[in-house]
Parts: sequence; C-alpha cells; structure tokens
Amino acid sequence: MSQREVARVSLADMTRMMAGGNESEVFNQPKCAICNIIETDERKLLTCARCKKTRYCSKDCQAENWESHKSTCTAQNYILKVSLCPTEITNPSVTRTLSCPSTATFEQLHRALQIAFGWASTHTYDFKIIDPNAQPEPLPDFTTIIKRSMAPWNDGPVPDAGSRQNLLRIIEKDPFGPGGFASGRGIDSMHNQSRVHSQTPEVDSKKIKLGKVLQNKEYEGAGIEYEYDFGDCWQHTVEVMGRAEASKKFSCLGGEGHGVAEDVGSDSGWLKLREAYRTMNPTTEQKERRTWFESGASNSDPRGLGNGREWDWDMIDVSARLRR
Ligand SMILES: [Zn+2]
Ligand SMILES: [Zn+2]
Repeated sequence: MSQREVARVSLADMTRMMAGGNESEVFNQPKCAICNIIETDERKLLTCARCKKTRYCSKDCQAENWESHKSTCTAQNYILKVSLCPTEITNPSVTRTLSCPSTATFEQLHRALQIAFGWASTHTYDFKIIDPNAQPEPLPDFTTIIKRSMAPWNDGPVPDAGSRQNLLRIIEKDPFGPGGFASGRGIDSMHNQSRVHSQTPEVDSKKIKLGKVLQNKEYEGAGIEYEYDFGDCWQHTVEVMGRAEASKKFSCLGGEGHGVAEDVGSDSGWLKLREAYRTMNPTTEQKERRTWFESGASNSDPRGLGNGREWDWDMIDVSARLRR
C-alpha cells in the first residue's frame, strides 16, 4: 500500500469521526499497530495469528512490526473444560473449567488439575490423544495379559493387545518420584504396561507444552483424555472450549460438584459413597463409608457429603492455589 493510500483512508476515518461519529467508539475500534488505520466494513484488518490481539492493515505492516512485537507476543490461553467420568458421574457431575497458558507443560496441567479436582497426587497419570478411527479393543486373552505384564522384566517389547487406540500418550516419566516405591507413590504404575502400544508414541509430560499438542493439525477432532490413577482409572474428558487472554498461571473459570475421594473404588465407589450420605437410615457399611471419607481418605473431608455438600466445591480456594 502506498503512503498516499494510507493517508487517504486515515483522512476518511477522521472525516467520519468528525461528522458526528462517536469519538470513543472510533478510538476503541481496532487499528493497525503501525499506521493506525482503523478497521472499516470495506477494509478488514489482519490479526496476529499467535496472540490474536495485535492488528495490521497489511502483511507489510505486520512484517515491519514483528521485530518489536515478538518480545511481547504470547499465544493465547486455552480454555479447557475437564469432566470426570461424564457418563457415569452426573447430578452433580464433577467438572472444572480452566484457563491454561499455552506455554505450560502437560505436567503443569496435571498439577493444576490435581488442585482443581481436589485429588491427592498419590497416583500415576497420563494424557491421551484418542485415535478417532480406533477399532474397539478385543478382550485380551490370558497369555497376552501375562506377556504384557512380564515385558518390562524380560526386557522385551510389549506385545500389542489389539489395534491402536491413541495417536499420542503423554506420560509421567518417573512415576515413583523421589523415594521410589518407598514413597508410596505411583504403585498403580504397574498397570502402565496395559496402556502401552507399539504404534503410539510416548512423550514425557515435562517436555511437551499444551500449545504444541492443541494446535497440531494432526490431532484436530481427536478427543483428549486425562487418566489419573491406573487402579481406579479416573477418566477425565478434556474439551477445548475456546481461547482467552494469555497468562503465566492457570486460573479456574467454573465447575460443578464436590471433588471425588481418592481410592474410593472408581466411579461406582463414588456413587455408593454419595448414596451413603443421601439415605436417612445408613446401614453399618454406609456408616463405615462415611467415616472413611471424613477421616481415612487421602483427600478426606471431615464435613462429609450430607446436606447437599456433594454439590460443594470452593472455587475461590482453587483459584488461590492455582495462583501460587
Ligand atoms: Zn502477536
Ligand atoms: Zn498498517
């Protein structure tokens, strides 16, 4: 675009502004970061693909601005809605919606989800990008189960149990952490072998960032799952709801339902615990469940789930802990 053209459009905008247009409205209109040209119906501005914030009238202006813009240009956050066993756990469901920095690693996302759902971080986890064309897994025969579970001790490859289920697995490289087995953490990782497939690449969660996976065209339309605790198999469905302003930390935007008790025995165990609180006349077994939840669980809640507390969760507390 020639300088003259630039001047002409700017003048047209000025004229419009003076001819009774609302002044603040014009000032709030998107304009080119270099030449200040305002967006009109005839002239749509370009938007920086990364930050989705800075606007340009032309590729030339964008190129001219990049040297100074690149230091402040940050990719937008991803708004992720995460639902725990959405088919099984309803009324209330257990969901959390987070705004997540695109530069955060999946390990950091795991930690944010532990806070948001009130988990106690005593177990292993992975994230999976689900293959949309996966064939249902056949029931593995006994020999395959044994071969798979023995593979790490035999130093051999793990035989596949069926067709590929996932395009990618993002895993915790060292599930035992400091202290190994003695730390009591990650014992459920012995079930890891049943999740391994020779056609599914595995990446260390500490080494891969959200943006890298979420903007990957190869995974477009594929479901994302976060699994926590390979014993109780807590499946969390992850949905990308949109983008938000870039931030350095995670933040919580909403959710529903009291966090689930760690080691309660999968979704059915949680439903039984809820039932133990809903009944007016608990059986001995139901009383024992209540006591366990109030004082025995790793993420116990001394107030229990009675009087509708199964709906309660503290968004302010979650937000404060995510900011730390
Ligand atoms: Zn930008
Ligand atoms: Zn321009």
